[in-house]
Amino acid sequence: MPRKIVIIGGVAGGATAAARLRRLDEEAEIVIVERGEHISFANCGLPYHVGGVIAKREQLLLLTPRLMNRRFNVDVRVQSEAVRIDRAAHHVEIKNLATGEVYLESYDHLILATGARPVKPPIPGVDLPSVLTLRSIPDMDAIIAAADAREKGHAVVVGGGFIGLETAENLMKRGLQVTLVEMADQVMTPIDRELAAIVQNHIRSHGVNLFLQEKVTAFGQEGERTRVILGSGRSLTADLVIMATGVRPESELAQAAGLEIGPRRGVVVNDQLLTSDPDISAVGDVAEPPAFGAEGTTWVPLAGPANRQARLVADRLAGRPIRYTGIQGSSIAKVFDLTVAATGKNSAALVREGREFRAIVTGNKQHAGYYPGAEFMALKLLFSPADGKVLGAQAVGPHGVDKRMDVLATAIRFGATIDQLADLELCYAPPFGAAKDPVNMLGYAAGNALRGDTPTVTWEAVMDFDPEQVTLLDVREYDERAADRIEGSVHIPLNLVRQKAERQLPREKPVIVYCGVGQRGHTVVRFLRQKGYDARNLMGGIMIYAAMRDDLKAIAAQASEPAKA
Ligand code: FAD
Repeated sequence: MPRKIVIIGGVAGGATAAARLRRLDEEAEIVIVERGEHISFANCGLPYHVGGVIAKREQLLLLTPRLMNRRFNVDVRVQSEAVRIDRAAHHVEIKNLATGEVYLESYDHLILATGARPVKPPIPGVDLPSVLTLRSIPDMDAIIAAADAREKGHAVVVGGGFIGLETAENLMKRGLQVTLVEMADQVMTPIDRELAAIVQNHIRSHGVNLFLQEKVTAFGQEGERTRVILGSGRSLTADLVIMATGVRPESELAQAAGLEIGPRRGVVVNDQLLTSDPDISAVGDVAEPPAFGAEGTTWVPLAGPANRQARLVADRLAGRPIRYTGIQGSSIAKVFDLTVAATGKNSAALVREGREFRAIVTGNKQHAGYYPGAEFMALKLLFSPADGKVLGAQAVGPHGVDKRMDVLATAIRFGATIDQLADLELCYAPPFGAAKDPVNMLGYAAGNALRGDTPTVTWEAVMDFDPEQVTLLDVREYDERAADRIEGSVHIPLNLVRQKAERQLPREKPVIVYCGVGQRGHTVVRFLRQKGYDARNLMGGIMIYAAMRDDLKAIAAQASEPAKA
């Protein structure tokens, strides 16, 4: 183990590395240099203190510098910025931000854990004091102060990623009216469009004024308030604006020191988490490690990988063999009453990479339907048709999403196939799951589609379908059909299909079958195909179709309306 280890950055990656190093070596000298006032704070908890869910600010401070020193004998220097690395001399130039003093600190090994900073796009007025970002405790304090400055104020959140959505929800909890402006045609880009539709309808139902495919082009001061000008020419008046338009690795220090920087501006590290200098490691959001199961590097700024990488670096420095196998991108967020999660690749990434893939969408309840509280979640699985390997998964729903997605993340990490998903033996009793767990069901449905037993179509195939060309068959019950239907569809409830199919379904046209989420549709497609029909199942049933239909309607209505605030 090197005698003296200097760590730049003292939050997720930095503090974890320091603690693990000390647990492995009592003798090493460990120094943390942190620009801010706090180390080891819970960045991920910041939005929840804004909303009062995490009631006490102190709950976010996991370890104070004093405690870190007492518990781990780490020399913690807060309000200290590393301003230059001299690799040849093996020292770091540090500026004490309280006194202005600049001094040199030598190192045997250096760990970069400088994280990522919020991106503020070059929009006119973006530097106005009312335009805020959320990364640190002082940022959170500033947001709370701005939110409380005016009763029932209006916040504009720019960016519909997980930080934007969590912040929007928590500002509403604090009593503000919230508008969310997103440039893309969907929020939460790790999930595919049709699952995002469910999230978007849900956000609107909670009173968020949601603008999609809308860009902020300028901010202007209007008395005490801020005018937010949108690309469509409309404008909003806000009491505070949160820019949640992504983050970028804080790699300038490394770049100035001549370390290799990757295509995503992160510091390139190998599977040992070493940079292009063998005496410098990088972990967390600043690092660009090898991609999981693919060529090249990747960059996914999340806390799990930061912690894992930090632990591995400490192990390596203590002489233990390590190999970092890459980031697969497992993420999850609470969006009002829904959980939204993704792991592995989404469709857009697979298309970008030119990889062949198949997708399946299912709807399943989180536990046995007869046990109280059962509700549907939507799941999507992406897999390779060549070998059945699971490439990615996504889910949205009120309950049980986290547990399925963790199973699927594990499956991807271990290279599982769709047949292995079908074969998993998962814990079951009625309050917790189903004898055929939603993960098993994904495996079954993917196998059925891949083997051609039940060919599927997506919501796009029925959005503007031509009844002359296709018979669209609704196999749900009468009450379900009365509540909602796809216009132009023929109705034969599941239990009457055997009697009525011959009379009501012309053989010369393909039949697309739909039900609530796709399960009954599968049964009917199997029957019809065995009777010689060209039958296909609508993936995700009317759950996905209606989500897309309602979402597209809301987007069209929004586009034709003047801004509300
Ligand atoms: P950070 O935790 O950002 O720490 C880097 C530290 O380095 C900073 O404190 C910075 O001040 C310091 N620093 C930078 N440059 C210098 C310098 N030159 N000298 C001295 N110090 C320096 N991830 C999840 O997985 N799940 C979540 O739910 C989640 N929620 C989040 C919510 C919010 C609001 C935010 C902001 C992030 C969230 N994240 C979440 C992301 C997660 O927090 C980061 O991936 C993780 O903190 C990265 O750890 P890190 O050590 O690389 O960087």
